[in-house]
Amino acid sequence: MGVLLKNGTFIHWESLEFVQADVLVDEGADGAIHLTGRNDKAPGDISGHTVLDCTGKLITKSFAVGHHHVYSALARGMPAPPKSPENFREILEFIWWRLDKALDKDTIRYSALVTAMAAARLGSTFIIDHHASPNAIKGSLDIIADAFEEVGISHLLCYEATDRDGKDKAEAGLAETERYLQKRQGLVGLHASFTVGPDTLDKAVKLMKKYDTGVHMHLAEDRWDQEHSLQNYYQQVTERLNEAGVMDSSKTILVHGIHLDAKERSIFKSKPCWIVENMESNLKNKVGCFNGTGLGENIMLGTDGMHSDMLRSSKAAYFTGQHCDVISPPDLYQRFRNVHRYLQKNGFAGDGPNNLVVLDYDSPTPLNSDNFYGHFIFGLTAAHVRDVIANGKLIVKNRQIQTVDKEKIFVESREHAKRLWSKMTV
Ligand SMILES: [Zn+2]
Repeated sequence: MGVLLKNGTFIHWESLEFVQADVLVDEGADGAIHLTGRNDKAPGDISGHTVLDCTGKLITKSFAVGHHHVYSALARGMPAPPKSPENFREILEFIWWRLDKALDKDTIRYSALVTAMAAARLGSTFIIDHHASPNAIKGSLDIIADAFEEVGISHLLCYEATDRDGKDKAEAGLAETERYLQKRQGLVGLHASFTVGPDTLDKAVKLMKKYDTGVHMHLAEDRWDQEHSLQNYYQQVTERLNEAGVMDSSKTILVHGIHLDAKERSIFKSKPCWIVENMESNLKNKVGCFNGTGLGENIMLGTDGMHSDMLRSSKAAYFTGQHCDVISPPDLYQRFRNVHRYLQKNGFAGDGPNNLVVLDYDSPTPLNSDNFYGHFIFGLTAAHVRDVIANGKLIVKNRQIQTVDKEKIFVESREHAKRLWSKMTV
């Protein structure tokens, strides 16, 4: 079983080599692909395979989201907060922390389903998520994992432990983390330095080492994270996390890293961990803008829960980056694709060669390896994603989700969203 993509133009995601070929895609986690005439396996018996005509279409590796928040999926269009937030802390307090406290098992499930469906339709087959639901902690990660798998999306999840709601909730967050890591691949989530005290930080690092994984947390998103660290721990936030051992793992993901000075950038660069840029979120929250100067190569891109469109995130990184960053077209493409390097180098499953998109991209100008970046930045959008193959299975065909009933899920998710919003008024 698998998929045969006939007569397309295959673009290798790393070398950008263009090959006219039929692509035979094996089904299963981390399965292979075979290009006719290019490697060992000719498409002999293809009975049982799904065959797609890809004449005039581009075939390349699907995309992946480096930092997402399922918990925000049902926020779109919700009523305004009781008070207009005037700074980053108030944005958390009046919007996101009211929303995540109102989540229950059903709203978590529908948040995950609609996130996975959106990601799939927009060409992503892997999501690294950072979850919070303080009044429905236990089992929340399994609910998300199961929903993602129903749609066909692979994942690397974590629960963001935090002291913002007291010691018991922090312990429950760490317990959910350990329960989950005992059976599935994942990370140890922490919210951010300013809501994580010494004890919770220490326990999280112990869990990270015990399960040979990494930490996933926000870093210096707002200046307040630095001020809080200096006032409470007499050191900058990067120094604090480094001293705790957070940055020693190549699986650790730090998010945003906007307010970092040269010394902190140099600490980060000397470590094997990764940072995720989310430029649209920076603009929305008025916290400053990401600047990769001095951070080295380990930079990837995310959406920070705003949407699931990685091509859109890449354009924001490039265009806003012209004002506040130093980013060339090859730099941008490298950041866009670094999530695959992060997943592969660290041995995480679900992002193998048999994850592909078929792009219906008909350009009025020539397209080849030499000018690919120009098309990537100025031409290609998620509207060109026609089909998506995840772990060798066709999950989007002709822009329609194949694995779940989208209309039914949207009818139900709208009801759950209304219920969620009404709980937030309490
Ligand atoms: Zn985030």
